[in-house]
Amino acid sequence: MIVVKVGGGEGVDLDAVCDDAAELVREGERVVLIHGGSHETNVLSEKLGHPPVFITSPSGHTSRRTDRRTLEIFEMAYCGKVNKGVVERLQKCGVNAVGLSGLDGRIWEGRRKEVIRSVEADGRVRIIRDDYTGVVDKVNVRLLMALLKDGYTPALTPPAVSVEGEAMNVDADRAAGATAVALGADALLLLSNVPGLFRSFPDESSLIGRVERGAIEEAAACAEGRMKKKVMGAADALEGGVGRVVLGDSRVENPIRAALEGRGTVFA
Ligand code: ADP
Repeated sequence: MIVVKVGGGEGVDLDAVCDDAAELVREGERVVLIHGGSHETNVLSEKLGHPPVFITSPSGHTSRRTDRRTLEIFEMAYCGKVNKGVVERLQKCGVNAVGLSGLDGRIWEGRRKEVIRSVEADGRVRIIRDDYTGVVDKVNVRLLMALLKDGYTPALTPPAVSVEGEAMNVDADRAAGATAVALGADALLLLSNVPGLFRSFPDESSLIGRVERGAIEEAAACAEGRMKKKVMGAADALEGGVGRVVLGDSRVENPIRAALEGRGTVFA
């Protein structure tokens, strides 16, 4: 069982990932594909006159400000264009994919944040109460296993669902980590638009090939912006018993195979 998460950043090659996933499925591997959609959401938000806003928390994490209108646009991009594109590509490759969000069947359930804190330009911290973001802490394994058992390949995407039943934006890397743990996956691959984790970003020659369990905090310190979430997703998965986590590149030939062979940053 392999959980593959492919990002939604600019330059990510979703088709190459789908083609490679399809080949593995045809060979009998069970694959759960998880994807993002951040770039498409940014483009659509601009077109619809509700430009994206990113907020930074006092602890330095960056996230999308998700008011109700943003959540609607987010769903159009993630669950609409991107998810159906992934399902179509897999179907074309002969894989019977089922595209679902974490809201469907409560696949990803968690707590919606009652308040979030945003550090403003003047350094002051603003409290926001109407944000639809949260953290996944429960995965509907029964539903995913039922699909896999019958030969379907799940293609999953945010949003997730809150305990109260609201849609909420969650980080797809951390949702992928939680999914890999819940399914007892052998490997979790987090593929994006960079070759892996760089010691000093953006110097590609500083690619970190391997991170040992005891050195995750040190690795996290090298990550900026959203890369931090990938390292956190990797740490969640390792702690939860996933044997191998790789931060790999979606833009290389056979990206899933390359990551499985250890190309990128391997956490083990
Ligand atoms: P995705 O949308 O694929 O999930 P993100 O764009 O959120 O991916 O995260 C990947 C980005 O993280 C890279 O494009 C890069 O700009 C940034 N980044 C920050 N710090 C690092 C680092 N230390 N090593 C590699 N990439 C980094």
